[in-house]
Formats: sequence, C-alpha cells, structure tokens
Amino acid sequence: MPEGPETHALADRLSMLLVDETLVHVRFVDPKLQRQRKVIEGRRVLAVEARGKALLIAVDGGWTVYAHSHLFGFWRFVDELDALPEGAPPRLVLGTVRGIAALYAAPSISLWRTDALDGQPYLSKLGPDVLDPDVDARALIAHMGTPRFGKRTLAVLLLDQAFAAGMGNYLRSEVLFQARLSPHRILQDLTAGERRRLANALLDVPRRAYRSKHDDALPPGKDYLAKTKAQFDFEVFERAGAPCPRGNGTIVEDRLAGRRLYWCHGCQH
Ligand SMILES: [Zn+2]
Repeated sequence: MPEGPETHALADRLSMLLVDETLVHVRFVDPKLQRQRKVIEGRRVLAVEARGKALLIAVDGGWTVYAHSHLFGFWRFVDELDALPEGAPPRLVLGTVRGIAALYAAPSISLWRTDALDGQPYLSKLGPDVLDPDVDARALIAHMGTPRFGKRTLAVLLLDQAFAAGMGNYLRSEVLFQARLSPHRILQDLTAGERRRLANALLDVPRRAYRSKHDDALPPGKDYLAKTKAQFDFEVFERAGAPCPRGNGTIVEDRLAGRRLYWCHGCQH
C-alpha cells in the first residue's frame, strides 16, 4: 500500500500532467459518477493535492475528485487513450492535452464540492499530516495530548491516520527505530524527551522518504524539503536477522497490530 511519501510523489506526477490544463476527457466506470462527469469535464485543473493517502484533484467551478487507492489501486500514465492496455477498464480516466492518467482498481472515488470536502468521511478523521509543510514537532506533540490516544501502544498509533496522517507500515518501523522507542510503549508513559524524539522522527523519516523520490529539482511548493537529505534507505524494515545499524543487537520481525514490524531490542526501549 502506498504510504504518505508515495502518495505525495504521485500527486506531483499528476500535477505535471493536469494542473493549469483543461480536462478534455473524463471517464468513470461508476455509472452515477459518469452521469455527473460534466461538472469536471471541460474544466481547468487548479491543484492536485495529497492528504494522508488520499488524492484530491480540484477543478475550477468548485468541484474536486477524491480518490483513495487503498491496497490495490494504481495509476497508469500514457500519451493517448489508445495506449491504455486491454482488459479491466480503469475506474477513472482523466485526459488533458499533455496526456492521460488512468486509475485502476481503486475502490474509493467520488466527486465533492470543494467547499464541502472537510465533511468527507476519510478526510474529516485525518490527524496532522507528516508531509504537510505547516505541521511541525510542536503541533505533533500537542496532538499527542489527545486523551483517546493515551492508552494505546505506539505500534497501533503509528498506523492510525487520526494520530499521524500519511504514516504506514514501512514508515512505522523506521520512525520507531529513529526515535529509539519500543513499539510496545504506551503513549501516555512517554517522557517529554521521548515525545520530542517521536515527533522529530515522525517528521524526519517520511520527509526523507518523500525527498528521495525527487532528484535535485524539488516540485513547486515543496521548498520546505530543501534541507532534507535526499537519500533514504531502510535501516530496519524487512531486515530481520541483520545486525542493528547502531551495532547493539539484531533486527527482529514481529507481527503487531496485524502488520509486520521490524525493530531492535538492543536500542529501542
Ligand atoms: Zn539496535
């Protein structure tokens, strides 16, 4: 499943194709959406934005396409409609003079009035987005004070989009490793220093993963990544049995909150 960094990189790619262009071709598989397509067809695309793991494509006239890929959704980019492969049709096709973007197998696609998006069920539950330039460590630490998070483990919270939007399974292992925290810790038991370490890792790790998807040139509006290292390698994820990069243990694999988690008992407490 794509996590925040992959979703943001996809939004950048879609922006190149769509933003400031007119949607000359729109096709939905869903008959109800297909009947509604005129609200975006012929309209100019204003912005493509990632929020959590959802993509929002806003057009002039006040409408936005909401798309969430969940486990299996994926996009294809082609120069012309005829170049789309035969077989199961894409759930959504968007075409401009620059090319065609087609979304396959994504279960959640809908059309929203842009000014009503805050009421969209997935978006309305999102916590601070770790890739939102306006989110900083102070905001994350304040959000950690939300009472309903207090008794939950970090293993659970770091997959919860209401706790930190854009997080996902590989990020969970890497964030906990950088923060030197055990996945079994309960949030309310963390010291102030540990919360600070967690907040910093929640920002650093996803931003490095996202930054590494772009070479020298940052996409427009992403200047906040200018000081972020462009290199990202897994230090623990899928490295069970390897020596800990900090040199004090062996990486192990556990199944926590239903997903694989990799960590080091030697340095994560
Ligand atoms: Zn270690």
